[in-house]
This record gives sequence, structure tokens and C-alpha cells, in this order.
Amino acid sequence: MTYSFRSVLCAVALALIASCATTEKVSKRFSGAFVSYTVDATKPETGTLGVTLHLNGVKLGDEAFFCIPAWAPGAYQFIEYGKFIKAIYPIAENGDTLPYAQLSSCVWQIQKAKSLKKVSYLVGETTDLKGGVLWVETTEINPNRVYFNGTNVFGYINGFKQLPCEVNYKLPMGWKVASAIEVAPNSNEAVASDYDELVDAPVLMGKFERVESIILGKPHSFVIDSDEPFRADSLIKVTDEIVKAHYRLFSELPYKKYVFLFRLVRPKFLSSYGALEHRNSSAYFMPVGDWRKVRYDQLTNTISHEFFHLWNPKRIHGTLLGSKENGGFDYQNRLYTPNIWFVEGMTDYYADMLLVRNRTISPQAFLDGLLQRLSYVKMFPTENVESLESLSLRLANTESSEEMIPFYIKGTLVAMMLDIELRTLSDDRFSADSLLIKMNEAFGKTGKAYPEDSLIYVIQTLSGVDVMPFYAKYVIGTDSLDIQRYFEKVGLELTSRDEETVFIGYLALPDTADNFIVGFVMPNSEAAKMGVQSGDEILSVDGIGKDKKEQFVQRVMFYEGQKVGDSTTVVVSRGGEPITLRGKVGKRSIKKQAIEPSTTANESARRRRLEMFGF
Ligand SMILES: [Zn+2]
Repeated sequence: MTYSFRSVLCAVALALIASCATTEKVSKRFSGAFVSYTVDATKPETGTLGVTLHLNGVKLGDEAFFCIPAWAPGAYQFIEYGKFIKAIYPIAENGDTLPYAQLSSCVWQIQKAKSLKKVSYLVGETTDLKGGVLWVETTEINPNRVYFNGTNVFGYINGFKQLPCEVNYKLPMGWKVASAIEVAPNSNEAVASDYDELVDAPVLMGKFERVESIILGKPHSFVIDSDEPFRADSLIKVTDEIVKAHYRLFSELPYKKYVFLFRLVRPKFLSSYGALEHRNSSAYFMPVGDWRKVRYDQLTNTISHEFFHLWNPKRIHGTLLGSKENGGFDYQNRLYTPNIWFVEGMTDYYADMLLVRNRTISPQAFLDGLLQRLSYVKMFPTENVESLESLSLRLANTESSEEMIPFYIKGTLVAMMLDIELRTLSDDRFSADSLLIKMNEAFGKTGKAYPEDSLIYVIQTLSGVDVMPFYAKYVIGTDSLDIQRYFEKVGLELTSRDEETVFIGYLALPDTADNFIVGFVMPNSEAAKMGVQSGDEILSVDGIGKDKKEQFVQRVMFYEGQKVGDSTTVVVSRGGEPITLRGKVGKRSIKKQAIEPSTTANESARRRRLEMFGF
């Protein structure tokens, strides 16, 4: 069908596109054909961006196909970003609008394309498939900021993705723009060697803070858009350690400069947070948190995780995961690879492991992270039903980013077990370190790719040991993870002991407005004796109210700061009336599990643990 331009959108579109036209200029950057984009963000209150793709020196046939990606590499969800394009205007050399037909949500066929000069279009805000916004892969446009992943905004003409690109941004007064492909910090211009590089550099515009830091001789930019004031120095210090820990493994930083884009929001209890890796940058949507504790924060693991992706899979390519050899990414079709577990699980294993090995996090924090994964793995009904390989293949059809979670839990544990397997089978001559370094030599530095269905053969060939039985059990198969046996080989053990813990006996969870409502009161508990009732809203505990949000949540959910036998005062709202209830903090006995260095470990297990984890 052919779209007609109408209604309110039309006025906005024409205004944005008219202003784009005045900024057109001829680039002296490229000698041959190239694509230039103008992104007009001067009217963020409209919730739209005006984008123009200009063709320079490109010869087209009678028809051309204008495309917007259907998915974003690394984000895996098949979002079909074309659905958020509000209107398109293919414009000829003489200024005429050319006829076109939309063939699918992300592809438009332009007729009489020989005379096509540019395509102007409007981009709206995007959401994920569930209508939510997992910021890093979507687009936010409002008077406070504009953020977008390149796949959501930059279209391409089919067959011309290999051309170099440049971008010119038009910003509201007082705004700045940042991305990994900017010409210089705070420049309104960006340059990419091809389309893959262009869309692999997310863009933040607004009034953010920006700090530059040189790490190992290379420029690193910290671009921070935070809802609350904070000190960036602790964040930069820990990131400095993370970058160096990764450098020690690969003996390289494979970029000229790197940009961290942080969007830090006031924590909401039931929110999803996330981050997305890119070729020379990463984007984070995270709670602000306490920056003095950043070393122990979830953010530490997340930064390390995204940074490891620089190699796996951004440079160590499988054929489908963006290798140049294979024509780059296919942005229009779902990606079916059995190796997401390796891309995500191995990455998450290294995220924490490199930090403990380099003493950025404590052995205790590392072991607690392992224990958490071990307890979560049992909570997923798929553990013994669906293999990691099958979960990987199915991910292309996922409707929710939550389906990623097993890769960070089971995938991470299997990656650690594979490391231990490689070490023990090779008499400690080969390890996951050696595997990744060799894969980087073979498939990272050469631009070649490993066949997506041959990962096991790659591991066998590079390591010279037979890991097929392991692979059959834990990657292709659904055997329960025999984690105790693997722990033994590195001098760790899973222990369990009875522990007395503080307990009051009410369970209060936040509703959508973050009011904590009591859902359950345990009979005969201290809470029952105090008179707490199901349906009460907790207003304060021992004088700590919702104004001290983090403390309040910790006290209500986990009784933090209370000791057995302490007096406690809980103020609840019941039927709109505040009621003060008094009682004592009770106790209960629980089985407390821990992963600990084993006191009976033999010499080789202890040596292996020291080499892997640094303790
Ligand atoms: Zn990841």
C-alpha cells in the first residue's frame, strides 16, 4: 500500500524536515559514495525526531528499498523498529516526493528510485514488545533528553550498508550529544566506516555530565545523565580497574576510544534495569544507588559484563553475529544461533571472575554471586527440561527480555564448569582464558568467523581436549549441574549450617505506586501478636518512613538494622487511619548455605583456584 501524509504528524514532520533541509551540506570527508544523515532533535516535546538520509554519489535502479532494522544486535528481541516510524518522504533531485509502498513493518519500496536524493522520516519513541521501556534498546524523546539505539533511528537503503556514513545533529539550545562515533567530544558530527558501525553506537542528547579519563593511554568518556546528584569519581575509579583487568587477559584494548553512557534513575522497587554492549561503547539504565558502595554494586558486574562483550561476541564473531566475512548483521531476519549461552554465559562468568582475580571485588562477593546463581538455577522450571542450546535457538522468537535470565544463571555456571573441565582434562595446560585468547586471535583479529553450528569443534580443536561428553551433558543435554564435583576440583565446597535470624512475621510487598502492603501475617508470629493485619499499608518502622526510601525498603523487606529482642514500632494505615503497633523483634532458624574455600582441598585444586580466582 502507499501511505498518505495527513493529520497532526504532517505539520510536525514538515517543520522538522524543512529545518533539516537548511543544514544540508557537502562533505569533504569521503572521496567516493557515502550516506549522510541529519537528525533534528530541536523539538523533543513532540516526542519525535526528524531524520533525513541523504545519498551522495549512489547510483540506484528503478526501485530501492528503504529499511529500518527489526532488531538490535545484543538485545535479541525482534522489536521491528519500523513500527515506530511515523511517516516517510522519499524525495527526488528535483524536490518531488516519490511514490512508495510499505512492504512490511520495516521495509519500504521506493519507486522511480533513479532520481532519489534523500529519504526524510519521523521517528517516534519506541517501547519493547511488552510495551515497557528497557531503555538501552529503545528510544526516549522528551524535553529532558533524547536517547536512542542506532537501529531505531538510522535507516538504510538495501545493498548500500557498506558505504561510509556521517551524521549531523541539530540540538535544542544548551544541549550536548555523545556517542562512540562522535568526531570529537561535544561535537555535533559523527562518522562511521559503514552502517554496522553507525548503528552500533547509541546516542544520548541532553544536559548530561561528562568526564574524560585516560586509561592505559586511551580516551574513555563517562557520560552521565542522573536523576540525583552523585560523585562520579568512585564510578570512574572502579571502571579504571575493570578496563585494566580485561586488558590483562587479552593484552589489548581493541578500540581508539570508548564511551560509557549512563542513565541513572531513582530506584523503583519493581523495575527492570539493563545495559547493552556495543563495539566501542556501552549504555546503562540503572538505579542511582549509593556511589560510595559502587564497588559492591550490581553496576560493577554490569560494567564488567558489557566490557567483556567487546571481545565476545563483538570481535570473536560467529557467522551470524555480525562478521564482515558474512556480510555483517542481518537486521531484518530473526537470528537463530545455538550459542547465546556462550556469548552471555561465558561473558557473565568472566565479568565477576576477572574482578575477583584482580581484587576489584572480594572473594566473598564473588562466592556470594555464585551462590545466588546456584539457588536461582533451581527456581527455573527449564533447568532439566530445556537445554542451553535449545534456549539459545529459541531466543530469536522471545517476546520478553526476561527470557535472557537463564543465560546469566545456568549459562554462567556452565561456563565456569567448562573452564574447570578444560583445565583438569589438559593437566592445567589449557583453560577458558587460553580458549578466549585463541578465539580472539583466530576470529577477533582476523575478521573471520566461526561457523555458528560448530562451536564445540572450535573448542575441541583449539584446546586439543575432548569436551564433547561435557557438552553433551550440559549444553546440548539437560543434566543437572554436578556443581559439587566441579567445586572440588578448584578447592571450593558448598556448606550448609543452621543460623538464627531476625524475624517478625509479616510479608509486605510494594504495589504499583510503591506503597508497601501487607499480604500475609504468619500466625503466632511477633507481627500477629502486635496486631499487624493483611491489607495494612506500612507507613513507618521504628520511625523510618518512606522519605528514607532505601532504608525503609530494607527494614520492611529484610528487617535490616533490627536485632532479636529489640522493641519495634510499626505505623500502618488501615482504612485510611494511621495506627501505631508495638512489639518485639522475633527470631527463626534457617539453613544458611555458603560456598567456601575447602579446608580439605588438595594441592592441585588449591593451585587451580588461585590461578582462576586469585585466592
Ligand atoms: Zn550480555
